[in-house]
Amino acid sequence: YYSTRGNGKSYSFGEAVTKGLVPDGGLFMPEAFPVNNLTFDELTALTMHERITHLLYPFVKTDFTLDGFSTIVRKVFNFPCITQILSENLSVLELFHGPTLAFKDFGARFLANVLAALPRQGQKQCVILVATSGDTGSAVANAFSETEGIKTVILYPKGKVSRIQELQLTTFDKNITAFEVQGTFDDCQTLVKQAFLDAEINERYFLSSANSINIARLLPQAMYYVESALLRKGHAKDTVFVTPSGNLGNLTAGLFARNILHAQWQFTAALNNNWMFEEFLQTGVLSPRKSVETYSNAMDVGNPSNLERIKNMYGNAETVRQIVSAYHCSDEETLASIQEMYRKYSYLADPHTAVGYNGACKSMLVHKAKHHTVLSTAHPVKFDTVIEKALGFSPEIPDRLKGILMKNKHSIEILPDYQIFKENLVSVIA
Ligand SMILES: *Cc1c(COP(=O)(O)O)cnc(C)c1O
Repeated sequence: YYSTRGNGKSYSFGEAVTKGLVPDGGLFMPEAFPVNNLTFDELTALTMHERITHLLYPFVKTDFTLDGFSTIVRKVFNFPCITQILSENLSVLELFHGPTLAFKDFGARFLANVLAALPRQGQKQCVILVATSGDTGSAVANAFSETEGIKTVILYPKGKVSRIQELQLTTFDKNITAFEVQGTFDDCQTLVKQAFLDAEINERYFLSSANSINIARLLPQAMYYVESALLRKGHAKDTVFVTPSGNLGNLTAGLFARNILHAQWQFTAALNNNWMFEEFLQTGVLSPRKSVETYSNAMDVGNPSNLERIKNMYGNAETVRQIVSAYHCSDEETLASIQEMYRKYSYLADPHTAVGYNGACKSMLVHKAKHHTVLSTAHPVKFDTVIEKALGFSPEIPDRLKGILMKNKHSIEILPDYQIFKENLVSVIA
């Protein structure tokens, strides 16, 4: 792995995962995308676990044996991704069949299992520290709840995550501590950043982050693009993948998959009213702005961190534009898209997926002959108040979630103040 800031150094997979961010401030990128040497038919003949092990092993081989890695793959990918075909030129790739009902389970589970299997960093207690606006925290809490020897601390803004998300953050007893911050997501993020800069904390603990700049979150996400493309066999080259985007991690993973398979797919980034990436494609410049709140709040990002990787892969906006387009929509259009998908296809989509559908409809005007595959990033039940607003009813709670509704919430409520956070942090992980 090398740094997007070009410091000339080379890092192993293990280093890239444990550091998260390159010390020079850059992001880790694979030095090569080992092009898969099997044909589509040969890949299809493998089981999903064999295929993923075959395609990802070259990225981790400095740190794992093939057997050891294959065990991790079987543990991580223990739920399906399901393609729903809505019409001849439109399908939905459902990525929410994991334990916390959002696609972030793929990345969080891979990261947790890989970190647990890598050698410990000295004698210090390893602590994962994450600020979340909802989905990241629930996926990370779930993924690390069974990981021995690693403690996880999650900060979320009080009253700003959905009921299901809050239960998913606060109902684990061991290994996970949730701080309920009386403030915004940005306040949570600031507390996390202060902790990472605190010499005393770093002296005592080995801090690690689980956010989407970590390369271990992206690699597993590349695999569901492959799974979906294999289903379409010979037609896969006519595919446009539509990725509802915020930090652009999911889109970057798709671009990785395109390189791994040497495929000709096109991509569309579907955005809400935070559409700085679309502006970047038009003008070649990204002007970071404070994010605005929308119904698809997991994509409320003002300065998408993975753009640095995309620029590194393609050089400039003009080259990116040959492969990737972007469309954005308002909250009203998001509601209208939820309604239209329900009316036309009897499909119940969460607001992020609906933004994807909206982007697909706009992209179809340009790529008329191509098949559009919309990535469905969350289960509608996670955003039930928006569904209620659009359709007048709430989605049914899946059976496997019912257990969580009976559990008791455990959180530590704090003011957004670093000293208060630090005292509590030290006492819970001590
Ligand atoms: C995180 C998230 C996104 C955005 O993904 P990025 O990788 O940050 O672009 C989209 N939808 C849902 C439901 C999410 O949780």
